[in-house]
Order: sequence, then structure tokens, then C-alpha cells
Amino acid sequence: EVRLRFAPSPTGYLHIGGLRTALYNYLFAKANHGKMVLRIEDTDRTRFVEGAIEGLIQSLKWAGIDYDEGVFMEDGKIVERGDYGPYIQSERLDIYQKYVDQLLEEGHAYYCFCSKDRLDHLREEQKIKGQIPRYDGLCRSVPLDEARERIAKGEKAVVRLKLPENMDIKFHDAVRGDITINTNEMDDQVLMKSDGFPTYHMAVVVDDHLMKITHIVRGEEWLPSTPKHIYLYDCFGWEKPQYVHLPGVLNADHKKLSKRQGDVSVEDFKNRGYLPEGLINYLALVGWSPKDNEEILSMKDLIDQFSFDRVSKAGGVFDKNKLDWVNAHYIKELPIDDLVDLSIPELVKAGLISQDFAQGHRDWLKLLLETVRESLSRIEEVPEKTAFLFGNLEVTEEEAKDQLASDQIGDLLGALKEELDSVDQVDQEFAKTVMKRIQKKTGIKGKGLYMPTRAALTGNVHGPELSNIMELLGKDKMLERIEQVLN
Ligand code: GLU
Repeated sequence: EVRLRFAPSPTGYLHIGGLRTALYNYLFAKANHGKMVLRIEDTDRTRFVEGAIEGLIQSLKWAGIDYDEGVFMEDGKIVERGDYGPYIQSERLDIYQKYVDQLLEEGHAYYCFCSKDRLDHLREEQKIKGQIPRYDGLCRSVPLDEARERIAKGEKAVVRLKLPENMDIKFHDAVRGDITINTNEMDDQVLMKSDGFPTYHMAVVVDDHLMKITHIVRGEEWLPSTPKHIYLYDCFGWEKPQYVHLPGVLNADHKKLSKRQGDVSVEDFKNRGYLPEGLINYLALVGWSPKDNEEILSMKDLIDQFSFDRVSKAGGVFDKNKLDWVNAHYIKELPIDDLVDLSIPELVKAGLISQDFAQGHRDWLKLLLETVRESLSRIEEVPEKTAFLFGNLEVTEEEAKDQLASDQIGDLLGALKEELDSVDQVDQEFAKTVMKRIQKKTGIKGKGLYMPTRAALTGNVHGPELSNIMELLGKDKMLERIEQVLN
């Protein structure tokens, strides 16, 4: 059975690049009828952010990454489910200790007593000499018994990996191909800190093995760590997983997508009115492409078509315009009730409607959103696209002003006023037929008929279906706007 894992550290929000990593893990797991695990890598306590685990879980859930095992939220609480738990690394310290002890006993690791001062000094010296900073191995020769005695007496020590000299470490990466690194270019990595917490490298290897992970899919920033992990697998005699290192998600300027250049958290995208379907669809295409280069793909399509051999080696550029285009597609497909529910908070926030109004005017809101949905690429745009229907008529476009200055405007609006006076309210029937009657009455046709009427009712010369606009404005507001133009 294929088993994959997404293993974020709870250091803040879920980055959009992290979501893509999670997505590729998920797609491959589902495509192969396997399992996906969510594991929390929180061994670096200095970077822990309160609430980050909850945020990660919620973002994945919102995005539709429906993993099978690991850490979940239930009734607002974090729970763990699965046969290979615990799934939060800080709850697994005794497990890591056991394997660190094994490495020490077998001579693959050693205690290091070097002080921070000494290490800082060493690093400075190496830098000045133009060397790559590396531990010099001073404590390698301290016998294990002696080291244990010193620790028992209260000395502080970390555990380091004892890499053999001049040994080639080889592995295969599904994206990068065969990779070889010599241990002379590597450092005796710290595996366990003096406080008993493992480092990422130790914990990740132990957990991936114990959780029976078959494929490691992660960002390429972890590629330089992989040789250390490979060596650890060999020390333990464990079967190695397959590796897939994903190219980065880049900005338009081909630099790593960063907070400084705008939104990068999944939460930001959600708040700006991207739909999970749109974001997922687009994100899948950043660094991967389906065989026929199709661009609209549901989660199911993605699962059907996903494979690692179509992941590109080059970084994928995150193109907001393309994302908007994909998202617009999903907004058009959204059930109208969902679109209304997502839009109400935006309309309320913009001060266009109140919560009470929303409660009592569901049908009106449905019509409103049906009317403008073609023009939306994000839910956040709902207020700006609908504002023309609220409050007083505002004519800012020159073209609309020209239309309202036409000779026939009086005849036209006079006829519309008469029509309105003859009914109690503007219903669909009225809205759909009134222009024909005005045409007959005034003899004005085509553009000369529609453009000035639209300008008078909306302040613009272009826009959505005029009959919908009439229905949405209703009799009183239409009369008000006509008066406003005529006076
Ligand atoms: N905890 C690492 C991170 O935050 C995971 C790296 C990996 O997947 O091995 O990205």
C-alpha cells in the first residue's frame, strides 16, 4: 500500500506552496488507492506558534485535502486518528530517544559537548578561511561510557551523527534523477538537542519509517537534507522510501513567493474570495501539467490524471491572473445558494446591506448574484460589482453622461415612468416586456433605446441584463433614478 504524509511545522499559517505540497501528496495517495497522513513536526519549540496546528488543519479541510490519518479537529479540539500515532512529534520523544540510543550504541552517533562559544568561534574561523562551516569532529573520540558519565554529572551534550569519511551517498529523486553526495561535503548533523528533543532530521526518518511512508513528497528546499536521511536509513537497516522533491512556487519575477510581495497564506486566499475548487485547480497546475494540457480540472480529474513524471523541474510561476480566471469558472458553477451565503458577509462588510436585510431578502439576493456572477473572479468583488444598485444613481462614466444628455432622453424616460405608474411593482414579466412597449410608443430602437435607459438606471452604459436590473431596483428606486436624471 502506498502511504504518503504531509508533515508541516506549526510555525504559522499554511503557505500556498505548502498547500501545493499537501495537494500533490494527496493526489498521489488517492490515485494509487493509498493513504495520506497529516503529521505535525513541532520539535523546534522556539518556532512554535499558538493556534498554528488548528490553522493548518482548517486550511487543509477548507481546501478539500481529505487525508486519512493523523491529526484532525473535532468539536474545536485537536484529535489524532490512525494506527501509527501519536502523530505530533513532541508526543513521541521516548521513541526518538530509543533510536538515538541505538545509534550511539552502534557507533553511528556520538555525544558532543562543545559549547556554543566554541562552535561560533569555529564557524567564524572557517568562514574567514573560505571554508564551508562544519563541525570539526572534536568530540568524535570521546568514548560513550565517558560521555555518559559526564552527562550523569550534569554536563550538557547534543548527539551528532558520525558520518564516515569520503563516502558517496546515492539516492534517486523522481524529479531530479540520480543524486550523489560525498560525506566530505556533509556535516555531522545534530540528531538530538541537549533538552531531549530530536532535530527534524532524526524525527523525520524515524517517523517516516514507523509510519510506513512509501513516498516522500516535499519542497526542494529539503533536498540537501536527504543524504543525511539516506545515511540514517542505512544505519538502521531500514528500507528507504521514494523521494519526490518539488520545485518551488515562484512569483512573477521568478523569486520565491514571499509574504513581502502579497498574500501567501491559504487563509488570505480564502478571505479574498477564492473558492477552494479554484485555488486547488490552479495550484495543481503550478509545476505540473496534465497530458492534454487541460486547464479546468476538478479534484477528481486531478486524482485521475496526476503523476510525478509530469512535475516540472523548473519552479512554477504563480500567476494571479490565471488563478482569477480559473476561480471565475468555479464561481459560475457554484450553486446559487452557496454564492449568496459567501457574498452576504462581503455585502454587509461593505455596508451595502444589513444582516437583517439579508435574512428577509433571500430571493432578491439570489437574483442579484445571478445577475453579476458572470463578472466575478473573486467573492471579494461582489460589493464593487453590485454597488451601482444601491443608494443614489451615480454617473461617472463620460459615455453614460453623453447618453443622458441625448435629445430623446425625456421621451424615453417619460414613457418608462408611465409604464411604471401603471403597475404596483416591477416583476419579471414587466421587466422583460417593458422595453418593447417603450419602443412601440416612442419609435426609438436598438442602442438608442437601451443605452440611455441603462445609463439612467445604472449610471453605466454596459453591464448585466437590463431586465434583471429593473427587477432588482424595483418600482420606487427606478422612479427615483428617473427623477434624478430628469431634474
Ligand atoms: N517539517 C517540515 C516542514 O515544515 C517537513 C519537511 C518534510 O516534509 O520532510 O516543511
